[in-house]
Amino acid sequence: MATPHDHECCQFLATVCYLSGNFIYACETFELEAPDPFEAERLARDRAAASNFHNLRGPELSVEVTVEDRPVPEDDPPPAPPGAVQPVCPRCGSADIICEACAHWDRTMQAWVLGSTYDSERCLACDAQGDLIARWEAVKPQGDMSADLP
Ligand SMILES: [Zn+2]
Repeated sequence: MATPHDHECCQFLATVCYLSGNFIYACETFELEAPDPFEAERLARDRAAASNFHNLRGPELSVEVTVEDRPVPEDDPPPAPPGAVQPVCPRCGSADIICEACAHWDRTMQAWVLGSTYDSERCLACDAQGDLIARWEAVKPQGDMSADLP
């Protein structure tokens, strides 16, 4: 019981999946602070037990917990910033690009959830379309006040 870890706290990312038999019907991710992964898992199971997902009356209800270290960003300086990027039309330069995707209905969240995206892209400005046609460009930082603002 007397573990001297008062000053050492780590960030963990716990993924909790709720299963009915072998079927995973929901997953949640918790950010936790704990001295070690075992304590993090215990905390995650506490949270899972209090979760709405846990109330489902399914046969063979069980909970699977995966704990991983969450790297503290201050430890490492970020790599040379590629910054945010966006797809841009190779023909007209517009950033109004859409791509085909498939979504699945999430009964718990009552919403369509993005499943995967496909290669097919299309420009809403000039209607150019094809597989992976967009160029990826850096998004200009918002902090540049010199030009557009009055
Ligand atoms: Zn275009």
